[in-house]
Amino acid sequence: MSGKKIVRTRMAPSPTGEYQIGNMRTLLYNYAFARKNKGQFIIRIEDTDRKRLVAGAQERMFEVIRDYGFDWDEGPKKGGKYGPYIQTERLGIYKKYTDQLIKNGFAYCCFCSEERLDEMRKSQKADGKLPKYDRKCLQLSKSEVEKRLKAGEKYVIRMKVPDNEVIVWTDFIRGKISVPSKDIDDQVLIKSDGIPTYHFAVVIDDHLMEISHIMRGQAWIPSTPKQVILYKCFGWNIPVFAHLTDLMDPERRGKISKRHGSWSARNFLNDGYLPEALLNFLMLLGWNPGDEREFFSLDEFIEEFSLERLHKKAPAFDRKKLDYFNKHYIQKKSDKELAKLLKTFLPKVDDEILLYLAPLLKERITRLSDAVELTKFLFEEIKYDKEMLLQRGATKELVTEMMDKTTELLKETKNWDDVVNIQNKLLELIKKNNWNTGQYFMVFRVALSGQKITPPIVECLPILGRDKTIKRLERAVNTL
Ligand code: GLU
Repeated sequence: MSGKKIVRTRMAPSPTGEYQIGNMRTLLYNYAFARKNKGQFIIRIEDTDRKRLVAGAQERMFEVIRDYGFDWDEGPKKGGKYGPYIQTERLGIYKKYTDQLIKNGFAYCCFCSEERLDEMRKSQKADGKLPKYDRKCLQLSKSEVEKRLKAGEKYVIRMKVPDNEVIVWTDFIRGKISVPSKDIDDQVLIKSDGIPTYHFAVVIDDHLMEISHIMRGQAWIPSTPKQVILYKCFGWNIPVFAHLTDLMDPERRGKISKRHGSWSARNFLNDGYLPEALLNFLMLLGWNPGDEREFFSLDEFIEEFSLERLHKKAPAFDRKKLDYFNKHYIQKKSDKELAKLLKTFLPKVDDEILLYLAPLLKERITRLSDAVELTKFLFEEIKYDKEMLLQRGATKELVTEMMDKTTELLKETKNWDDVVNIQNKLLELIKKNNWNTGQYFMVFRVALSGQKITPPIVECLPILGRDKTIKRLERAVNTL
């Protein structure tokens, strides 16, 4: 044995809402670090806050984590020797540890009512003090506590924060952090229903599951001193903490929040972003390889990843950059792969047509969902805007002439699927009539689609079919 500790990282989501894109970044780093060090990546569900549970959220989390391309070594649905991995299935485990804390004077029972606590907090606030439990129940004698417990009084178990100490730990990203113990509340560890709070369960579970490194959002920094105290009370080794930066909104005014639209990880997939593009984008949102490289597959990222290169400065969520990655990965898809991906967005379109459309769309879409708007005219009735038909200064007479002559030509065209032939015929027609090529094709496009942007329009003719094409050209002229 080298004596080197096995790297075990974890993601410990609470199923209290949809999995957010920021959570996925945290997961990516934890996952990569475990993989890089040939360790294990664990998922644990922290569901002790029963009031905040959202129905179905847990299942949706597992699904979206998988849809982004991740798997876990231990956790729900997988099992593992440190299970169960859902905290409410571990309730029997925690009691032993609270008993131990109470016995050693690190925790105590508190019988204060909610009303009393509310009053206390109100008056502390009014005095400009930080709301903090005033330790009334810490004064109770052992026999008094026993009497009240026997009488079946409602109680919680609180941690006894040490007096006059400075709690210090070293955050891998932020360095030494110290908090005077007087600023730390006697945190409730076990609620009156016997269920542990996050603060307690997280420490017990991270220890029992032998988690070596904890990477999580910076929002958890204020909780860390309480957890550090608990580790010390138990005499346990403290894992490496690395608190990741927040993600800032695109304008860097604040962290991304619901006010700026939906940031759920699922939503990005629904919008037509590819998992590999999202991951590549997230990799660089708080980490860099130390050089100019920007494209990384998950395997390449795992190879390169190190905690030393995690950033201290919060990055802005730059959608343009995400779009750039998405375009890149869309273009790398084979026609067949892209056709398959497009099926989700164009479920009614035949596979064969999707395969035909794939190369036409590949260079023109940023998100898979863009294909819907771009190809709508092929599958649905269109509406004309008269003004739009008069493209690039074309007069009504000119457009009529262009479209009438085109109709005539297309009616006679033999092989409808031979787009090269049609293209050549149209070019001849343009030349013969001395029309402007750019203007002509814009008019033709709008006449057939009602849109200014489409896939190459002549290549769309085989899908549109001769009848529909002719009808649309005639209708366009009649609209003028
Ligand atoms: N259950 C916490 C959450 O929902 C986990 C915090 C932690 O990683 O310690 O994010």
